[in-house]
Amino acid sequence: MTAQLDEKVEPIYQEVLRRNPGETEFHQAVREVLESLGPVLVKHPEFRERKIIERICEPERQIIFRVPWQDDKGEVQINRGFRVEFNSALGPYKGGLRFHPSVYLGIIKFLGFEQIFKNSLTGMPIGGGKGGSDFDPKGRSDDEIMRFCQSFMTELYRHLGEYTDVPAGDIGVGGREIGYLFGQYKRITNRYESGVLTGKGLDYGGSLVRTEATGYGATFFVKEMLRVRGESFEGKTCLVSGSGNVAIYTIEKIHQLGGKVVACSDSNGVIHDDKGIDLDLVKQLKEVERRRIQDYVEFRKHAHYLPGGNIWDIPCQVAMPSATQNEINGRDALSLVKNGCIAVGEGANMPTTPEGVRIFLDAGIAYGPGKAANAGGVATSALEMQQNASRDAWSFEYTEKRLAEIMKGIHDLCYEMADEYGMPGNYVIGANIAGFIKVAKAMVSHGLI
Ligand code: NDP
Repeated sequence: MTAQLDEKVEPIYQEVLRRNPGETEFHQAVREVLESLGPVLVKHPEFRERKIIERICEPERQIIFRVPWQDDKGEVQINRGFRVEFNSALGPYKGGLRFHPSVYLGIIKFLGFEQIFKNSLTGMPIGGGKGGSDFDPKGRSDDEIMRFCQSFMTELYRHLGEYTDVPAGDIGVGGREIGYLFGQYKRITNRYESGVLTGKGLDYGGSLVRTEATGYGATFFVKEMLRVRGESFEGKTCLVSGSGNVAIYTIEKIHQLGGKVVACSDSNGVIHDDKGIDLDLVKQLKEVERRRIQDYVEFRKHAHYLPGGNIWDIPCQVAMPSATQNEINGRDALSLVKNGCIAVGEGANMPTTPEGVRIFLDAGIAYGPGKAANAGGVATSALEMQQNASRDAWSFEYTEKRLAEIMKGIHDLCYEMADEYGMPGNYVIGANIAGFIKVAKAMVSHGLI
């Protein structure tokens, strides 16, 4: 159930399939952008002549490396590390690192590809990249995490630099991991280069609001989508999948804006709390004690834990997927729409399958795709880079205000671009076209490189 590709774009997609066999998530991400670009080539024949789309689909550089390390029992472990430096037309490569056993080249390429357009939408001078490893941090001790991070950085450092490539966190990589990675980078290079990583601790160059930024930003984006429809979060029942960094701060901001989040999850199951998720408890369990979300019901007896449950079957008005890719399929999307959902804002990257997206768009609900809705994280990373460059530290209030302005700017840009291309209210078209055009123009200016 995917849309037809424009005849000018179809051969480009076929070539992507041929050159990148088996990388299904990458194919999905490319196709979703290409579906929007037919009309852009009509308006901008120079993009076609210079083969801009073909060039954007081919990463500038892909690095794959061995990561050997020793576990607490003294046993040698081998993982695989990746960094895909996708596009530097707008600035140094920028994008997170993901540590999860499902990681392979196709996942990193889909994330890196999305990152190009997301970073473009922020209006900040950052290119697109992504990296990570098939390392599974779950159940590992602090020492094991540190040894892994040190080994990972021992190869990666030679590819990084504040003007070259600046990683951040993603699934499985939070403040602790960024700290170990930064420490090893500093040790190897003998340079205190704050701007080489973002998501750093507040005591050594991190930015206030970076931890909260993706979740807060996604919620600001949904707030704007609701506003143009004459709605608000006030009194709305909401679902937020996941219980990691993005989910936690999405829940926090929804509660601040008057909504009620009644469910969250992890990869094992779902917590349903009719009275509203107790966020202090979730933070204690996940951020401090690093426990599983099922332990929530030990402390809140009225709540339910649904092992293997499907969060999208719980009735809501606003859904914010904040866990992982393809977590909402066509069936889930139908269930959400049928139960009265009016807005979906993606905190996660590509959490909705193409069939699910089609169902949301056909139902006319407000649908904010990840590359626009979750851009607040990378935008605040760029603010962290600005503070590092000027050796400054901004207040929480000031940084959050900047984030809110950036998210409103991204919303308005997508909204207006969708209008301009005759698809009012379609944030997918708006985000893809607005993100693409800026990168494409810069690539034309730079010549054939
Ligand atoms: P975390 O590692 O902090 O949390 C991830 C959460 O999602 C956990 O609750 C995890 O559960 C759950 N999850 C992960 N994989 C799966 C899976 N295969 N099935 C079901 N649940 C899963 O990551 P983040 O919160 O940082 O990232 C969440 C999403 O947001 C990702 O898509 C990421 O790419 C995206 N994102 C993150 C940004 C950031 O700044 N951190 C920026 C922009 C986007 P469990 O513990 O059981 O694995």
